[in-house]
Amino acid sequence: MTLALYTHVDMLGHRPREGHPERPARLSAVTDALSEASDLELEVREAPLIEPDDLALAHDPEYVAALMAQAPTHGVLRLDEDTEMSPGSMRAARRAAGAVTAAVRSVASGEIERAFCAVRPPGHHAGRRFPMGFCLFSNVAVAAKAAQAAGLRRVAVADFDVHHGNGTQDIFQSDPNLFFASVHESPGWPGTGDPSETGIGNVFNATVAPHAPRAAWRAAFEGLMAHMDAFAPDLVLISAGFDAHADDPLAEQELLEEDFAWATDAILSVARARAKGRVVSSLEGGYDLSALGRSALAHVRALHGG
Ligand SMILES: [Zn+2]
Repeated sequence: MTLALYTHVDMLGHRPREGHPERPARLSAVTDALSEASDLELEVREAPLIEPDDLALAHDPEYVAALMAQAPTHGVLRLDEDTEMSPGSMRAARRAAGAVTAAVRSVASGEIERAFCAVRPPGHHAGRRFPMGFCLFSNVAVAAKAAQAAGLRRVAVADFDVHHGNGTQDIFQSDPNLFFASVHESPGWPGTGDPSETGIGNVFNATVAPHAPRAAWRAAFEGLMAHMDAFAPDLVLISAGFDAHADDPLAEQELLEEDFAWATDAILSVARARAKGRVVSSLEGGYDLSALGRSALAHVRALHGG
C-alpha cells in the first residue's frame, strides 16, 4: 500500500524566536527520517493553503480573522508565553491545517485510505477561540469537521502526545458525533485533561505519572482504545506527538520508538474493525530531533504496513 505524505516547505517558515523548542528543524528531522527509509512507499503531496472558511468549520470566524490580521510582517509577535508568530507563521499554519483537511477529503472520497501529515505548527492546544502551546489552528479539529461535511459522520481523535489536547477537547466536547481520547502526563502542562473531564460522554482522558513504566502507558492507552472501538468511528485521526519519548526534553515519560509503533497498531486495529481502515495522522509535539525522527519513522512504518 502506498501511503500519502502531506507536507510543504512553507512550514519551515514559521520561525519562533531562537531557542524555542518548536523549531523548523523538527519538520526536517521527520521528513529526512522518512525519505531515508527505503522500505517505505510514500506518495508526497503538497499541503494546500487552507481558506478561512474551512478554518471556521472549527474556529470562531472572528478568531480566524483576528489572528490573520495580527500576523507580523517583521519580527516575532508573542501571543502568549509559549506561542509566537513570525512573518511566515500564518502561511505555515494554513498549510498545516490544509494538509490534514486535504488528507481527510481524499480519504472521504475513497481516493486513499491513509495519510500522514508532517506539519508545524502543531494544533492540539488551539481551541475554538484561542491560540495556545505553540498552536495557532487546531489542525485535527478542522479536519474532523471537514470529514463530517464530506460524509464521514463519526470522527475519533486518538491523541498520544504527552500533553493533554485541550484545544481539540474544547472544540469536540459538545458534539456527540466527535470522540476525543488523550493519554498524557499528569501532573504536567497544560494542567487540563483530568479523567473526570468527559464532555458529553465523548471525551476520554487517561493520565500517566512522570517516569511511569512503559507498560503503564500502554495499559492506559489500551483503555482508551476500548472506548474508541465502542464509539465506532467512520474515520480515525491521530494527534501524533512524540514527546512521550524517553529522550524528550519537555516531559518525563519513558517511551521508545517501538511503543509508538505499538500504539499505531492498536489504533489501526480499531480503524480496520470500525472505519474501513481510514486513518489520517498529524504531527503534534516531539522536541528531541533524533528521537522525533526515529519515532515518526516507527509510526509511519506501522501506518504503512498495518
Ligand atoms: Zn506535546
